[in-house]
Amino acid sequence: ATADYRARDAAHHIHPFSDMKSLNAEGSRVIVRGEGAWIWDSDGNRILDGMSGLWCVNIGHGRPEIAAAIQRQMAEISYYNTFFKTTHPPAVALAEALARLSPPQFNHVFFCGSGSEANDTVIRMVRHYWATLGKPKKTVLIARKNAYHGSTMGGGSLGGMAPIHSQGGLPIPGIHHIAQPYWFGEGGEATPEEFGIQAARELETAIEELGEENIAAFVAEPIQGAGGVIIPPASYWPEIARILRGREILLVADEVITGFGRTGNWFGSQTFGIEADLMPIAKGLSSGYLPIGGVMVSDKVADVLIGPGGEFHHGFTYSAHPLTAAAALENLRIIEEEKLVDRVRDDIGPYLQKLWLALGDHPLVGEARMTGLMGALELVPNKPSRAHAFPDTGKVGTIARDFSFRNGLVMRAVRDSLILAPPLTLTHEEADILAATAKKTLDDTLAEVKR
Ligand code: PLP
Repeated sequence: ATADYRARDAAHHIHPFSDMKSLNAEGSRVIVRGEGAWIWDSDGNRILDGMSGLWCVNIGHGRPEIAAAIQRQMAEISYYNTFFKTTHPPAVALAEALARLSPPQFNHVFFCGSGSEANDTVIRMVRHYWATLGKPKKTVLIARKNAYHGSTMGGGSLGGMAPIHSQGGLPIPGIHHIAQPYWFGEGGEATPEEFGIQAARELETAIEELGEENIAAFVAEPIQGAGGVIIPPASYWPEIARILRGREILLVADEVITGFGRTGNWFGSQTFGIEADLMPIAKGLSSGYLPIGGVMVSDKVADVLIGPGGEFHHGFTYSAHPLTAAAALENLRIIEEEKLVDRVRDDIGPYLQKLWLALGDHPLVGEARMTGLMGALELVPNKPSRAHAFPDTGKVGTIARDFSFRNGLVMRAVRDSLILAPPLTLTHEEADILAATAKKTLDDTLAEVKR
């Protein structure tokens, strides 16, 4: 069956972010089933899903409650729009739940279908906000290098990834990128705290150069996820807050990965003390069971949008789709009922962190880091030096990722680091298996690199 799937996949399916020539030569892994923190491939191998799918399956795979909630809603009405002065029960209940669960300044939400759409919405919303306030020149969004905010023209532009910008004419005008707080890779001789301040001050410099009168917003992930789980030094976010204080610039915290318990609070903003004006959300909002995204809108912005802003000419057929909203609502109920956020903060988070940080002693690991259930291992050729990377960037990371999969654990490679974000339902026993498999993966990779 596996060979058959592979051949048909190769014949017709173009995968996202994949070199199709090498993928087809190798053959896709065919994933057929999931339960809890585990997935199964078509050859019957059981694999621990250390990436929660793609950072999204926070409540674990295969939850029958979600299937039942979707089915219940399907029996009522599967689709209706929210354009025609219409709404529906799941949209109402989900918006209400999100207002209750998010930081106090957020009492409104705009729904869309994904994280990319959420960030595209942000670009238009912040410009519309300032234009409504009589400041139409405020159009520039400052974001960060190596950030990921999606793949659409807007999201891809806001993101700071060179390979994305190199295709399709990105970035669109009006987006400016500053440094990321990536101490391990870019901190040089500075201490993490010094470097956090240094990286944050690039925002101040950019504001001075571009002119505050032209800037609409600063957009950043609390922890850069796809960029390699870049956990900022403790000095970074307070310095950003200092720079923005008293300035007319909106702060957008992209919570697509860091939302819904991943960092040990409902939102990463709470973990880092960030007071944002807008929060793009997706992924853990429905634990990926059905695609849904949104933008949480603070009272400050909502007061302008709802009223003087008039009609916001923006929306999607699937904004607040009833089935996705029902799935998200049930997902939030499960997160609350099972106290998964507390679990990440007080129980499985600290438990896994201890095991994960201990991998930092491995000869191949230059740094192990983890916040909540979101971590990275930086692989280096000659520990303890941070300065020397592997010559062929990404090769060792890919070798390690492939060993990991074969050993029964999904980790993702970003350059020469391995990244991890397991379901929030992970048990202690599964955490033990995860750490042992990661250790074996490092041993296998070291042996291969030395060969
Ligand atoms: N923002 C962040 C921080 C993300 O990590 C992602 C996806 O990984 C996105 C936005 C884009 O979300 P989507 O893939 O749902 O469009």
